[in-house]
Amino acid sequence: MSLEGRNAVVTGGGSGIGRACATVLAERGAAVAVWDLDREGAEETVATIRDAGGKGLVVHADCAAAAAVAEAADRTRAELGPVTILVNNAGITKYKAFVDLTEEEWDETIRIDLKGPFLVTKALVAGMLDVGWGRIVNISSSSAQSGSPNMAHYVAAKGGVIGFTKALATEFAACGITVNNVPPGFVDTPLMRRNVPDPAATAARMPMQRAGRAEDVAYAVAYLTSEEAAYVTGHTLSVNGGRVFG
Ligand code: NAD
Repeated sequence: MSLEGRNAVVTGGGSGIGRACATVLAERGAAVAVWDLDREGAEETVATIRDAGGKGLVVHADCAAAAAVAEAADRTRAELGPVTILVNNAGITKYKAFVDLTEEEWDETIRIDLKGPFLVTKALVAGMLDVGWGRIVNISSSSAQSGSPNMAHYVAAKGGVIGFTKALATEFAACGITVNNVPPGFVDTPLMRRNVPDPAATAARMPMQRAGRAEDVAYAVAYLTSEEAAYVTGHTLSVNGGRVFG
């Protein structure tokens, strides 16, 4: 599954799942632009990629702000060339009981987790249409498949990401561009450690009795970005250690 000669953008690539995706895509030969609000995190990811002999680019950007996204897209194209792989991974989560959830918290989660993928995809898909080849992978969440308490804002945003994926998959199916989504289950990342009071107990409740590793998600993403996945689009590839949803 070589990605030699391809240029990729991974949003939120400065930590957790995004970092693993950026690293695995680079290992397979892609040049990877790591877009993140956290400049230091993005620099660490790109340093790892370069140390392993790969090509990476740090792009400090708020992926949910239109002007910053346009600037990031211009810079990435200028430095790497046409971008044909996009992983919409940047996201936030904060547990909050619905009765306490404020309008501001709702809006902020929808802005980053749902509007962000819209803006970044808008900025990059025209280039994929020009080339006639593209791979878009949206990171959603198993909580949007099952529902989850204290996460109405997040589940609504990630449910939107799943719908957005299906809509674009049909719209671009005849254009050489696939659009899929990967809902992770419980994955050991800084985000999870910030949110979950007892990660070991939560991990033990998973069918595989362990938390996922960021790499578990990255390998699924790498498949969906490959040439071999050309006939797979609009698909939900769950990476959750065996949780099954009806
Ligand atoms: P993380 O907090 O470790 O990493 C997220 C990265 O996104 C950070 O580097 C952060 O700076 C960046 N980011 C956040 N908002 C941004 C913005 N507006 N612009 C640019 N960068 C921004 O989180 P993670 O656990 O690796 O999560 C990655 C994705 O996976 C998220 O979309 C999350 O919702 C999803 N997810 C994670 C889990 C899990 O168990 N960890 C489960 C389901 C879904």
